[in-house]
Amino acid sequence: MKVLKFGGTSVGTVENMCNVKNIINDGKKKIVVLSAMSGTTNVLVAIANNIANDMPNEAIDKINKLHETYFNTIDTLLNDELLNTDVKNYVTEIFNFLVECTYQDHSINLENKIVAQGELLSTYMFHNYLKQEGIKSTLLPALSFMRIDKNKEPDLFYIKQDFDTIFKEASETSIYITQGFICLDDEGNISNLQRGGSDYTATIIGAVIKAEEVEIWTDIDGMHNNDPRYVENTKPISNLSFDEAAELAYFGAKILHPQTVTPVRADNIPVRLKNTMNPEAYGTLINDNHTENGVKAIAAKDYITAIKIKSGRMLLAHGFLKKVFEIFENYETSIDMITTSEVAISLTVDDDKNLDRIVEALEKFSTVEVDKNQTIVCLVGHSIVNHHETFKLFQILQDVKIRMISYGGSRNNISLLISSKDKIKTLGKLNDYLFELVTL
Ligand code: ADP
Ligand code: ASP
Ligand code: MG
Repeated sequence: MKVLKFGGTSVGTVENMCNVKNIINDGKKKIVVLSAMSGTTNVLVAIANNIANDMPNEAIDKINKLHETYFNTIDTLLNDELLNTDVKNYVTEIFNFLVECTYQDHSINLENKIVAQGELLSTYMFHNYLKQEGIKSTLLPALSFMRIDKNKEPDLFYIKQDFDTIFKEASETSIYITQGFICLDDEGNISNLQRGGSDYTATIIGAVIKAEEVEIWTDIDGMHNNDPRYVENTKPISNLSFDEAAELAYFGAKILHPQTVTPVRADNIPVRLKNTMNPEAYGTLINDNHTENGVKAIAAKDYITAIKIKSGRMLLAHGFLKKVFEIFENYETSIDMITTSEVAISLTVDDDKNLDRIVEALEKFSTVEVDKNQTIVCLVGHSIVNHHETFKLFQILQDVKIRMISYGGSRNNISLLISSKDKIKTLGKLNDYLFELVTL
């Protein structure tokens, strides 16, 4: 059985929902994971922020506007009167719940409940749309099987157990629809797999059912060799290894949630990226085949903070790094890049929630410098650290200030830290010289 995930754009308009219907309606048994309609989760986050900032009227205004948009979509999607009314009633219950939330004090639990509504809306609408089109489907509620443990990792043991039970009890059909992104936490509260998490839902389910393949259907024909939001003439890559895809997803290729390939790589379950608006395009196949041909793709991760830690005493005397890392661990902040010299350590973090407290703790035994607005540019390709092209990098980027470089941590990745204001220039130059073969 395959797992097919459709992202926000794929369920964002009636026309695209019709494309999804055509893609999945081939009579084969499958699990379909849906995101919220595009834009919805952003509005839900904004509503939660309004509540947090004591702005209930702004929140209600957003809720009313979104409610109206959904009613308009339902009128175009469902001309069957009974189904139209049923779905409008369901949707209205959700919007009434959101209004009730504006009377409550902000808490992380409240926020998580609010942002979970988008996937509940899209799956219910799509399930009923299929019903109208004479296609039978069954809804599998994600909140009955998807859960994370206290480290916010998927709890695969319970997910498998609960998924199997629900799947066995569900009425027999070829299309099983479930919500991406949402889950319960270890205390049974509604939570989520972080933004873009529907990709992760799909591969978690893929691992649990030992799927034949996981397909991620989105609005572009696969993983491109550079970020198409910032660079022109990017091209789709037909094959990536799990290692390469993992590096690209982690270092900013927005097409995939950072953890997407983690659940499936051990069982070598292929992940295929496809375009809902152009299903004929090959897309990208991610599996454990490695091909060596230099730099395959470039990604960039923004909102990075660089921290330089200097110490008068023997910096690299044993125990020093341990002391530094323990502080980051205590504040549950993971480090992305690290470089060392005799007198200083530089490292980067993308989560600056606890930055002030981390700096305070580090300052007890060192001098600390913090630089915000940094970007990690990550070059990926099988064994690129040994490839001749790699040696051109410093020449290509001679007029870009490189703040840190990470080489050799993995054979498939070279990461550079630059100021975010140089990002577009850097991505463009790397594209020209590495992929468009402009000569130096
Ligand atoms: P979905 O809503 O389907 O999950 P996303 O917006 O999360 O879609 O991901 C698709 C988008 O990722 C593309 O529209 C594209 O702008 C962006 N993107 C960023 N980097 C890449 C890349 N290297 N290859 C393809 N798309 C990328
Ligand atoms: N709806 C969620 C988000 O916008 C999850 C997803 O789309 O994958 O982040
Ligand atoms: Mg996404």
